[in-house]
Amino acid sequence: MAKGMVIIGAGECGARAAFALRENGYEGPVTLIGTEKHLPYERPPLSKESMVSEDHPLPRTIAGEDQFSEKCIDFIGKSTVSAINRSVKSVALEDGRQIDYDRLLLATGAVPRALPLAAGSKHCVTLRSFEDALAIRARFQRDAQIIIVGGGFIGLELAASARKRGAKVTIIEAQPRIMMRGVPEEIAQVIDTRHRNEGVAIRCNTGIVSIADNADNVSITLSNGDVVAADLAVIGIGATPVTALAEAAGLETGNGIVVNDWLQTNDPDIFAAGDCCIFPLAIYGGRRVRLEAWRNAQEQGALAARNMIGSLEPHQAVPWFWSDQYDLGLQVAGLADEGNQTIRRDLGDGAFILFHLADDGRLVAASGIGPGNAVAKDIRLAEMLIARTARPDPIKLAASDVKLKSLLAA
Ligand code: ADP
Repeated sequence: MAKGMVIIGAGECGARAAFALRENGYEGPVTLIGTEKHLPYERPPLSKESMVSEDHPLPRTIAGEDQFSEKCIDFIGKSTVSAINRSVKSVALEDGRQIDYDRLLLATGAVPRALPLAAGSKHCVTLRSFEDALAIRARFQRDAQIIIVGGGFIGLELAASARKRGAKVTIIEAQPRIMMRGVPEEIAQVIDTRHRNEGVAIRCNTGIVSIADNADNVSITLSNGDVVAADLAVIGIGATPVTALAEAAGLETGNGIVVNDWLQTNDPDIFAAGDCCIFPLAIYGGRRVRLEAWRNAQEQGALAARNMIGSLEPHQAVPWFWSDQYDLGLQVAGLADEGNQTIRRDLGDGAFILFHLADDGRLVAASGIGPGNAVAKDIRLAEMLIARTARPDPIKLAASDVKLKSLLAA
């Protein structure tokens, strides 16, 4: 009898994998294990809608209880896996339960990177779970002084949300500019200007020297000697993949759980997918990357499911992510740092796209910014060009009257 498929981690990736097993005809037992009490829910709204909605927010669940029971997916919430026993192919839960598997998927995700100086401070928090979001939201009050450490996606989205709620916001960024990771300077500049126009103070090239809690607030000493006070400091300085279980089980790990093209670890019965894994990206010659992106989590969850039941398809998707701040929408397809030449196409209304080309003229990435969804359609077309390893004519890329669709046809 089949022991079944076990998935550790009930976020976007794990939940998608569970349903994809059924969609692809798997009929044995499927168990999805997660530490949180909620049914699997979407995390992107946590820094955005959940912070600003008029009504008290609820987790936006990926599937309802009825869908889990209809698909016979056994969701075990509020449970932590304490060990993977590879020799007998079972996982042990902290409450003493053992669950056997034929194939196991690690979809353990990533957790906010800790700032050691903030350890023990009751006014310094991070954002990962829905409960974290509620706690932060409660402090985003009119005229509250909020410090955000880290000018990356989480920090900037939270800054925009805090401003919408009328809080005063200062961003402290260690690097010379915001969004150094994955976003070209020209686009970061648009976002930087927008935040400043909305009244956010942004301090780049600024480190933190010490953090001291007072009764009602926190004092943060910056690298230039200034001391700033905040009612709440949110630390958004990146994320660390959750690899401890994999490591303890003797699986290969580095900056993530190491997997092959099929998302399989060095144990052929154990797969890993989503934010926790480091995988080779075929379109960039097998460059190993770890992505913290919603769509990647979905795609890899679905792919891991197919491969767990024997399909062995390589991961081929082009990385894609987005961020919404105020009414601005940012999207990036591909890895911009693979390019060394940039072509700009203006789309009107201040929206524009940058195409990133490699030495050989291959389109390797496209990044865009504009109001609302202004760049979405063209980024989607660029993504298709990237997937086809196209070498589009740079003059046509720059000419906004030349439809990108026509380049795709060529
Ligand atoms: P996240 O998903 O948390 O937003 P990112 O990697 O997109 O992660 O952004 C994290 C940002 O935090 C980067 O811009 C990085 O330069 C910045 N950062 C990292 N460490 C510190 C630090 N100690 N102080 C201030 N900023 C930091």
